[in-house]
Amino acid sequence: MSGRRERLLVIGGDAAGMSAAAQARRLRDADDLEIVVLEQGEDVSYSACGIPYWVGGQVEGRGELVARTPAEFAARDISVRTGTRAESIDLAAGTVSTRDGDRLGYDRLVVATGGRPARPPIPGLDAPGVFGVHRLDDGAAIRAAIDAGPRDAPMRGLVLGGGYIGLEMAEALQRRGLEVTVVLADPLPMQLLDADMGERVCRGMTAMGMAVHTDQAVREVLLDATGRACGVRTDVDSYPADLVVLGLGMGPETALAADSGLALGPTGAIDVDRSQRCRDHPEVFAAGDCAQTFHRVTGEVAHVALGTHANKQGRVAGSVIGGRPARFAGVLGTAATKVGDLEIGRTGLCTTQAEQAGFDFRADTIEATTRAGYYPGAEDVAVKLVSERGSGLLLGAQVVGGPGSAKRIDVLATAIWAGMTAEELAGSDLSYAPPFSPTYDPVAVAARAVGRTEQG
Ligand SMILES: Cc1cc2nc3c(=O)[nH]c(=O)nc-3n(C[C@H](O)[C@H](O)[C@H](O)COP(=O)(O)OP(=O)(O)OC[C@H]3O[C@@H](n4cnc5c(N)ncnc54)[C@H](O)[C@@H]3O)c2cc1C
Repeated sequence: MSGRRERLLVIGGDAAGMSAAAQARRLRDADDLEIVVLEQGEDVSYSACGIPYWVGGQVEGRGELVARTPAEFAARDISVRTGTRAESIDLAAGTVSTRDGDRLGYDRLVVATGGRPARPPIPGLDAPGVFGVHRLDDGAAIRAAIDAGPRDAPMRGLVLGGGYIGLEMAEALQRRGLEVTVVLADPLPMQLLDADMGERVCRGMTAMGMAVHTDQAVREVLLDATGRACGVRTDVDSYPADLVVLGLGMGPETALAADSGLALGPTGAIDVDRSQRCRDHPEVFAAGDCAQTFHRVTGEVAHVALGTHANKQGRVAGSVIGGRPARFAGVLGTAATKVGDLEIGRTGLCTTQAEQAGFDFRADTIEATTRAGYYPGAEDVAVKLVSERGSGLLLGAQVVGGPGSAKRIDVLATAIWAGMTAEELAGSDLSYAPPFSPTYDPVAVAARAVGRTEQG
C-alpha cells in the first residue's frame, strides 16, 4: 500500500455498517485504513430481530441484544461515533457533514442507513400509546408501557399489520398477559405465503386466543381525553386497546443517499452492483436494508429487508474495500418466524410471484408430522412446493407447522439455490431418526409428490 492512510467512513452502525467495518479492518491494518462509523443512535451492532423476544420476556436484558459495544470496536481500531447523525454527503468533494457541524472527508464510504418503518398518514398514529418496533428504544418503551399498565384487568394490545414483525409482537404481547387483537388490511397474515398457507397461520393465531381481523384498513387511531391511544377505527369496525403496536412493513431509508445524488433503483432502494458499489460512484458502497439487490430465481431487482442479507452485504462491501474481490450472490427471500408454537418458513417464489414472473408452474402441498408419528411431540406440518411444470425445477417453498417446522425451509432454500428439481430433492440423502422426522422427511415427501405427478 502507498504512504497515505485512507479513511473509510460508514454511515449506520448496525448489521450492514458494522459488518463492513469489521471485514475491512480484518483485511487492512489501522495504519493503512482509518475506519470511522457514524451512528445517530446510542447503540451499535444491536439485534432488532431480538426485540420481540425481549418484550416477550424470553430475553431479559437490553444488553443481551447488543453484540458489540463501541468500546469493543475501538479495541479493534474502529472508531464509532454514536449520537452522530450524518446530514449530507458531498459526493464531488468526498465529504460527509454531520448534524453537529463536523465535515469528514472519506476515500471510501459505506451507506448503511437501514430501513424505514412504514407510517401511513393515519390520524393519531403519533399519539402516546402507539409504538413502532425498529430500534432498541422502541422495545424499551413497549416494555415500560406494559410494566406501567393496569394490574386489575388484562391490558389490551392491538397489533397493526400481519407480517412477521406483527406476528412476533402479537406473541410477545400475549406472553406478557395482554389480550391480543391483530388488525390487517390484507386478506390474510404473511402476504408472502400463498392463501392456503396464510389461512393455516390465521387459524393458528385464532386458536391461540388472538382476535384476528383481516381485510380492513385502519382509518384512525382513537384517542382518550388525555390524547392517548385507546383503540383504532377501521373501515369495518372499532377496536379498543391500551397499547397499539405497528408492524406495517419496512422500506429502505434512502433520504440521505437520494439527496446526495446517489441513484435509487426501481424498488426505491439504493442501486448497487453485486460488489455493493453504487453506480457512477465506485468509491461509495451501500449495504443492508437501504440497498437494492436481486432475486436468484427471477433475476429481477428486489428489496428484501432482512438481517441475514444486511450482514452478508456489509461483509461484501468490507471485503472489496479491504482489497479482496467479493460479490453478493442475491436473495431467495428465505425467512422464518413463529407465532406461539406455530412456525412459518418461506423461500423463493410463492404462486403469485411465480405467476408475475411468467413461469408455467404447479403447486403441491403435503401434510405430515415433524417427528415420527409415535414419537412424543410430533406435530402437524404442511409443506408447499412451487415448481416449474415439466422440468420440476424448484421455484419456491413454504412451511407452516408445529415446533421443528420452520428451519426445514433451509433445506428447500438450498435446493432452490442449487437449481435442483423436485425429483433430485426427493432422492437426496436427508437424515432420519424418530425424534427429528418421519422415515421420509416432510421435505422429501413434498418433493416426491411433485415428482410423482410430473412423471404421470
Ligand atoms: C422487530 C424486528 C425483527 C426482525 N427480525 C428479523 C429476523 O428474525 N431475521 C432477519 O433476518 N431480519 C430480521 N429483522 C430485520 C433486520 O433487523 C434488519 O434487516 C437489519 O437490522 C438491517 O440492518 P441494516 O444495518 O441494514 O439496518 P439497520 O439495522 O436499520 O441499521 C441502520 C443504522 O443506521 C443508523 N442511521 C440511519 N441513518 C443515519 C444517519 N443519517 N446518520 C447516522 N446513522 C444513521 C440507524 O440509527 C441504524 O442504527 C427484524 C427487524 C425488526 C425491526
